[in-house]
Amino acid sequence: MSGEQREPVKTICPYCGVGCGIQVQQGEEPGDVQFRPWGDAPVNEGRICIKGGAATEVVDHEDRLTDPLIREGGEFREASWEECYEYVVDELERIREEYGPDAMGFFGSSKTMNEENYLLQKIARRYGTNNVDNCTRMCHASTVWALRTSLGAGAMTNSMRDLREEADVFWIQGANPGEQHPIANSQYFRQAVLEGATVVQVDPHANKTTRSFEIDDTDRHQHLQLNPGTDIPVLNAVIKTILEKHEDEAGWIDEAFVEERTEGFEHLKETLEDFDKEAAAEECGLSLEEIERAAETYASADNAAIFTGMGMSQHRCGVDNVQNEINLALITGNVGRPGTGVNPLRGQNNVQGTCDVGAMPNVLPGYQPVDDDEARESVEEVWGFDVPSEPGLTNVEISHEFGNSVRGLYVVGENPVMSEPDANRVAERIGELEFLVVQDIFMTETAEYADVILPATTWAERGGTVTNTDRRVQRMRGVETVHENTKHDLEILSAVGSRLFDDDGFAFDDPEEAFEELREVCPIYHGMTYDALGEEGLHWPCYEPGDEGDPYLYAETFDTDSGLAHIEGVTHTPPAETPDDEYPLILTTARLEEHYNTGTMSRRSPTLNRQTPENFVDVHPADAERYGIEDGDGVTLTSRRGEIDVVAQVTDATKEGVVWTTPHFAAASANRLTNDVLDDRAKIPEYKAAAAEIEVALET
Ligand code: SF4
Repeated sequence: MSGEQREPVKTICPYCGVGCGIQVQQGEEPGDVQFRPWGDAPVNEGRICIKGGAATEVVDHEDRLTDPLIREGGEFREASWEECYEYVVDELERIREEYGPDAMGFFGSSKTMNEENYLLQKIARRYGTNNVDNCTRMCHASTVWALRTSLGAGAMTNSMRDLREEADVFWIQGANPGEQHPIANSQYFRQAVLEGATVVQVDPHANKTTRSFEIDDTDRHQHLQLNPGTDIPVLNAVIKTILEKHEDEAGWIDEAFVEERTEGFEHLKETLEDFDKEAAAEECGLSLEEIERAAETYASADNAAIFTGMGMSQHRCGVDNVQNEINLALITGNVGRPGTGVNPLRGQNNVQGTCDVGAMPNVLPGYQPVDDDEARESVEEVWGFDVPSEPGLTNVEISHEFGNSVRGLYVVGENPVMSEPDANRVAERIGELEFLVVQDIFMTETAEYADVILPATTWAERGGTVTNTDRRVQRMRGVETVHENTKHDLEILSAVGSRLFDDDGFAFDDPEEAFEELREVCPIYHGMTYDALGEEGLHWPCYEPGDEGDPYLYAETFDTDSGLAHIEGVTHTPPAETPDDEYPLILTTARLEEHYNTGTMSRRSPTLNRQTPENFVDVHPADAERYGIEDGDGVTLTSRRGEIDVVAQVTDATKEGVVWTTPHFAAASANRLTNDVLDDRAKIPEYKAAAAEIEVALET
C-alpha cells in the first residue's frame, strides 16, 4: 500500500470504560499510526479526553516486545514461537500431572477483548480448573456481587444517555467521573447538571468531579466529605432519615414499589431501629444537618440516580457498601426507570465484558454459576467437555498461594506485581512459582519474573469486541500489525489451546468465529452478531437475534429467583487498619485522569507523562504544619507493608488526618503500602484505607 492514503479504521479507545469511539489512521508504514476523531461515534460523538487522544502514542513505542522470549540462566533470550508454544504446553502438562489442575492460575485482562478472554477461560476450564479471574476483582467485584444478588445483573442498571436525559439528582459516592470517566462526565452528567440536575457527592477527597460540577455552589449541590471507610454509617443515617420523615409525612418512601417489587424491607427497618444518627454523623466527620439535607434531596427527586465507584467497592465491606446504595434506591423506588438506578462506573475499556464472558472463578459466560448443574451442563454441551463444578480461586487468592497450592500462572495483559495490594509481598511470592508465562505488549513489572514472554499486538492492531460501562458491546477494528513477529492474543491462545488439548475447539481463525461460539453459551449476548453490532453497538441483555438491547434494566421484574429486588440492612465494618500511635494517618488511594492503572501504557505516552511525570501525595495543611512539610517537599510515606518516596502536595482537597496518593508509578506505587485484607464474599482488597505515617525525606 506504499504511497496510498488508507481509510482510517473505526475502533474504541483502549483506556477507560466509557467506550469512546476513535479512528486510527494507518500511514505508509505499519508503525505509522495516527489518532483521528470519529465524529459520529455513538458514545462520544467525536469528543475525546487526553488519554484517548494520546492512545496511539504507544503503538509503535520503542519498548514494544517484538519477539518471543525464554528465560535461560537468569536471562531472557529470543526464541521461536514454536519453541515457546512447546515449552508452555509441556510445563502446563507437567504441572497438571504433578499437582493437579488447580495448581495453575489464569489471569485474563480488562484490556483485552471479549473473544480473547472467552478463549482464555475456556482453556482454563478444559485444563480442569476454575482458577481464572481478571482485574475486575480489584475494582468492582463487590459491586458485581451486590448487584447480581439483589437485582440480578452485575452492571449499570441504566445508560449514560437516559441518565443525562432523565435524572434530576446525581448521587455520586466513591466515584470521580471528572477524573476517571472524563467524557461521560462532560458529555452526559455535566450536561444534565447544566440543565438543572442537582449533585450530591460523597467522597473523602475534593476532586475534579467536585470542581466540574461547581459543587462549592452549596445552595444547590453538596459535597459530603466523609472520613474514609464510613460509607455505611452515612448511608444508614440517610436511610434512617427517610424512614423517620416518612412516618411524619408519607411520600419519602415509595410504598407501592417496596410492596410489589422488593423483599427484605423489614430487615432494613429492624437493622436501623436503634441506629444513632448523631453518633454516626460524628464518626463520618460530618454534621447530621448536612446528611439530612442530602437525604431530602435524594428522596424528593422525581428521578434520582446513584453512581458508585471504587471508593465504595474497594473495602473489606465492599459488598455491604453497595448493598446500602441498593437499599436507598429501592426504598425510594428509584430503580427500573430511565434516569434512576445504581450505576457502577467501570474502570477499563473491557472490564464489563471480561466478566460477561466468564473470566471469573465462580461464573461461566453470561454469569451462569459454575455450581449450577443445569447452567454448567448447557455450556458443556456446546464445548464438548466437562467443566469443574467448584468455584475456583480469585486472583488475590491465587497470588496468596504462589509456591504453595499454585505452582504455575498464565497472565494475559495483566500486571499483578503492581496492581495487587501489598505489592512488595506479591513480588516476593511470584518468584516462588515454578512456571510463569506472560502475554503482553511491554516488559511489565510482572513479565520481569516470567519464564516465557509472548509478545502480543496492541489494541490498535487487532479486531474484536469490548463492552463499555453501560453494557454497550462495540466492535474494535485493527490496522496493520506493527512488528511482524508479534501475534494477536486470540491467535496465541488458539495455538496454545489447540496444542495443549489436541482439540480444534480451541482454534479460531478470527474474532468473529470466537464471538459466534460465545453467543451460544452466553444468553445475554445470544442475540448479537458482528453485523447487528455494526457501528452503534448494542446494550446487553440481547437474548434473541433482532433484539435491540436494553438501555435500562428491571422495568417489569428483577432477574432474581423471586423476581423481587432484595433489600438487606447492613451495619458498619470499619477498615481493617485504623490509625494508631505508630501509623497515625489514614492512607487512601485513587487514579488520575492522565494515567491508567499500573501505567504500562500511560507512563510510556509522552503526552500523558508530561502532564504528571511522578507520584505525589496530598497532605492537609494542618498535617503539613504538624509534620513540618512544605508544598513540594520530598516525603517518605510508610505503612506496615512498605514505603514510597513521593512529592508532597499541601492541599485542603484532602481531610485532616488523611493522605491520598496513586498507584500508577512503579517505584512509588501506592500498592507498596496498601492492605491485602479482602471482602469475605467478593474477595476484593481494601485499597481505600490503611494506616500510614509520613516524614520529610532526608536529603541525599
Ligand atoms: Fe478513552 Fe475514557 Fe477518555 Fe473516552 S473518556 S477517550 S474512553 S479514556
